[in-house]
Amino acid sequence: MLNPLSIYIHYPFCKSKCPYCDFNSHVRDSVNHDDFLRAYEKELEFFAKKIGKRKVNTIFFGGGTPSLMPISLVEGILRKISNLWEVEKSCEISLEANPTSFEAEKFKDLKSVGINRLSLGIQALNDSDLQFLGREHSAKEAISTIEIASKIFDNFSFDLIYARPKQSLESWKKELERAIAFGTKHLSLYQLTIEKGTKFYSQFQRKEFEMPTEDLAADFYDLTNEITAKEGFELYEISNYSQKNFECRHNLVYWQGGDYLGIGAGAHSRMYLQDESCRSSIIMLSEPNSWLKKVEDFGAGIQKLEKISQEELLEELILAGLRLSEGINNSVFQRHFNKKISDIFDGSKLQNLEKQGLIFLSGDEIKIPANSRLLTNAIISKVCEALAVKFN
Ligand code: SF4
Repeated sequence: MLNPLSIYIHYPFCKSKCPYCDFNSHVRDSVNHDDFLRAYEKELEFFAKKIGKRKVNTIFFGGGTPSLMPISLVEGILRKISNLWEVEKSCEISLEANPTSFEAEKFKDLKSVGINRLSLGIQALNDSDLQFLGREHSAKEAISTIEIASKIFDNFSFDLIYARPKQSLESWKKELERAIAFGTKHLSLYQLTIEKGTKFYSQFQRKEFEMPTEDLAADFYDLTNEITAKEGFELYEISNYSQKNFECRHNLVYWQGGDYLGIGAGAHSRMYLQDESCRSSIIMLSEPNSWLKKVEDFGAGIQKLEKISQEELLEELILAGLRLSEGINNSVFQRHFNKKISDIFDGSKLQNLEKQGLIFLSGDEIKIPANSRLLTNAIISKVCEALAVKFN
């Protein structure tokens, strides 16, 4: 059986920069999409030679704002992928879209070239918060885009940001219930965070707005989990909720330690290259024109390619796996190291964490109980302290 591969395509452009955003997104007056198509194709060809035969089972167009891509660019990339690898019939092919009428007009065409899952960056359902978040769309436009998407795609998701300044629990409850009523099967619900280097970071430093206290933020999270559970959504990752069988399969690959290839400016990859026993980490140049030039000259816009040590890989797998409600299980350790949980951890240290209610242990899995989820980062550090395995 061929090893599965997931492919992430990064489109690094947006119409404007949102004040909270620390993604690799750039605003440009014009973009030469013919040059970009050639570069994406060339980089895919470069990695096809390094990766060898694989079965592609998820593809994800992220950004930036990939719904700004011309249909011919999306189509060209998908055609190139299917020329280079076998693409599974049931391959999940997602694209992130902003909810404007300009983008909604493209949904049918996106579906016709192969996109079968749409992820809408709604963020809020009221105009004043959308304005605060620097979004270009209005609540009315967001709602009409959700309605259009729901008629075209069986599988669509949207993102909302909560725990915003001055937001009350009551108003969030109403907003979330209203959002769920649109019939989506998947929701990504993120608490607003202030990241260094963003416009919000300097505004927050200048005390131009206040963020909810930690206690209030925890109440927001509990309320979010309560409402989504009541509506039949399962919290399958810290910020991701889905109806049964509508989890984002592409993102699960990141969290379950699968192989993924990232193409485009600033994209990251984690995978075993052909005939190699160590996993590689690859990071592309983030500035779009520098990436483009390097692809033209060398076939790939690589900024850094390094082998990941077994110790680093183990920590990465724990960090990603414990974000999932199902936790991390023996199959992940078996696949990468041919070892079981009992070979990897100091059993008494893990039991101690279980006694404190921080983890749940069974013979073949470790997970974080629902009532300790807010402590995920601290628990991950403690689980890493319980590592006992030595690699040669
Ligand atoms: S649309 Fe998304 S990627 Fe673009 S600036 Fe806003 S948050 Fe960042």
